[in-house]
Amino acid sequence: MTHRRPSRPVAGSSAGKADAAEGVGAARRKRFPVQLDCLHPPLADSQPQSAVVPAAGAVAVPDGYGVDSGRVRGHMVQQLRQRHGITDERVLQAMRKVQRHQFVDTALATQAYTETSLPIGFGQTISKPQAVAKMIAALLEVIARPQECRVLEIGTGCGYQCAVLAEIFGQVVSIERIRGLHQLAQSNLAPLGKSNIRLVLGDGLLGDPQAAQTFDGIISAAGGRTPDAWLEQLRTGGRIVTPETGDDGQQYLAVIDRHHTGVKRSVREAVHFVPLRPGVI
Ligand code: SAH
Repeated sequence: MTHRRPSRPVAGSSAGKADAAEGVGAARRKRFPVQLDCLHPPLADSQPQSAVVPAAGAVAVPDGYGVDSGRVRGHMVQQLRQRHGITDERVLQAMRKVQRHQFVDTALATQAYTETSLPIGFGQTISKPQAVAKMIAALLEVIARPQECRVLEIGTGCGYQCAVLAEIFGQVVSIERIRGLHQLAQSNLAPLGKSNIRLVLGDGLLGDPQAAQTFDGIISAAGGRTPDAWLEQLRTGGRIVTPETGDDGQQYLAVIDRHHTGVKRSVREAVHFVPLRPGVI
């Protein structure tokens, strides 16, 4: 696995305290394919490419070239629907919108829309698209109006899942324990200008130290034993979606619902996420 440090300027970071991604004045990175980024603003993938009519006098540029094209993301979403059974349109729409290639190293950009996890440095990986989709869909099963909800993400990584969550939910708090990745996520998310994201450098095993309210949902991109702190920070009626390691040492996707009467835990398919680790490094 490739270990790399962010090779681009990183927006201001803060250690040990909450840190907002918004308002960080980083200019949009100049990354491959720069020209295509300029030529192709994000398109709705359901929109036939041929329907893009250039303004009078403008040069018609065919879409479908380069990893930033709407068509490539549309294909990924089609695979999520057909091969992986994702039917929640809110998830599909968000994943159609967020440009996954902007969250991985330039050298890996051409693989960004394949069904694979990719190295993001520091020994960590960006989750596979289907893993992101399944976890968020599981959270949404119990959430009718996500725009009114606050979710906590454990394991910001490069910030991709955080960006998808921020398209769907009203507020997203995301915690990362590795300073370099926290900074990478700041840098990746700043250009999106989302005001509903708060990035925290901290130990997610403790939940969000600054949480004034409970969360409607908690989603973890790293697995092990689910800490009690998460249940304490989950509102009644809320759901945790997390990889958990079973007695057999295998990880399973666990869904934990907090009810008035107690906690209900169910286990879904086998999964493979990086381990939850303590402390900030
Ligand atoms: N959602 C991320 C996936 C990152 S992989 C993305 O879209 O890229 C999981 C992440 O969990 C890693 O970055 C790892 O450092 C982080 N992690 C592991 N234990 C943690 C902890 N206790 N607190 C916060 N983050 C943790």
